[in-house]
Amino acid sequence: MKIGFNEANDRFCENHSVMKDIEYCDKYGFDYIDIQSECLNRELENGTVTLEELGEKFKSSKVKMLSYNALCFFNMKQTAEEKAAVMAELDEIIRRCNILGCKMIVLVPSYDMQERGLMPTRAEIRKDAVIVLKEMLAKVEPYGIKLSLEFVGAPNMTINRFEDAYAIVEEVNSPNLGITLDQYHFYAMGSGWDTLEKADGDKIFIWHLNGTEDLPCGATYNNDEKRMWPDAEGDCLDHKRFADTLKSIGFAGGCTIEIFRPEYYKLSQEENVKKSAEITKNHIKKYWD
Ligand code: ZN
Repeated sequence: MKIGFNEANDRFCENHSVMKDIEYCDKYGFDYIDIQSECLNRELENGTVTLEELGEKFKSSKVKMLSYNALCFFNMKQTAEEKAAVMAELDEIIRRCNILGCKMIVLVPSYDMQERGLMPTRAEIRKDAVIVLKEMLAKVEPYGIKLSLEFVGAPNMTINRFEDAYAIVEEVNSPNLGITLDQYHFYAMGSGWDTLEKADGDKIFIWHLNGTEDLPCGATYNNDEKRMWPDAEGDCLDHKRFADTLKSIGFAGGCTIEIFRPEYYKLSQEENVKKSAEITKNHIKKYWD
C-alpha cells in the first residue's frame, strides 16, 4: 500500500510552503503528495514559487504528486458561460499537471443549488454529471490523466453519498474515471456499506484517511474541522471495516491522510508532516498489511 500526504493537514501551519511539503514528505517516507489547489494558488499568486520549480523538485524527489486536489464545483452549471468556465479551469489544471508530473485530478461537486433557485433531483444531478464528466474525460485522456470524483458528505452537496457517486461512475464506465473515497465524507452523510461492499475496487482511485468526532448526520457543525487523527481519542470511525471492505473489493490505489483540523495547524509544518507519516504508516500496518 502506497501512502500519501494531503496538504489539508498542514495548509495553515505557519509559513506553509508547497516546496517544503515535498521535502518533508520525502524525508518522512510518504510515496505521494496531494497538492491542495488553494495552497498552490496562494503561492503562484504571491510569486513565491513557480510551477516549473515545483516540477523540477518532483523530478529529483522520491515523492510523486498523486493528485491535483481539486477542481471544485464541476457540475450543475446552468449557462453556457458557466460551463465554459469549468472547462477552461480544467484546461489550466491539465497544463499544471503536465508540468508537475501529476496524473490525477480530484473533482468536487457543486453545493449552491438552493441559493441559485434550483432544486434538482438525484436523477437530474446524475444526468448532468454524466454529460460533464464525459466531456472532461475527452480533455484529459490525451495526457494520460485520470479523474477522481470525490463525493462530499454535507447536506447541501449535489453528490454527497458513495452510492450516488458510484452510480455516476458506473454509468460513465471509463477506466479513467473513479472515486475518491474519503472516510469522513462516507460517515458524515451515512453512505451505505452495502454499496461499498458490492463496488468494484478498481473504480476507487484514492482512499482519504482520517478519523472524526461522532456527530449527528447532517448537523451543520458536522464539518471537515471535526476530523482528527485516525484512532485519536474520540474518533468514532470503524477503521477495520473500511480497510477490510476495501481489501475485499480489490482496492489497489493509494491511501492519503487528509485532515482539516484547525488544532493541527498549530504544529510546525515539519512536525505536522512527520506526525502524519507516523500515523499513516501505523494505520496501514495495523489495518492493512
Ligand atoms: Zn477528501
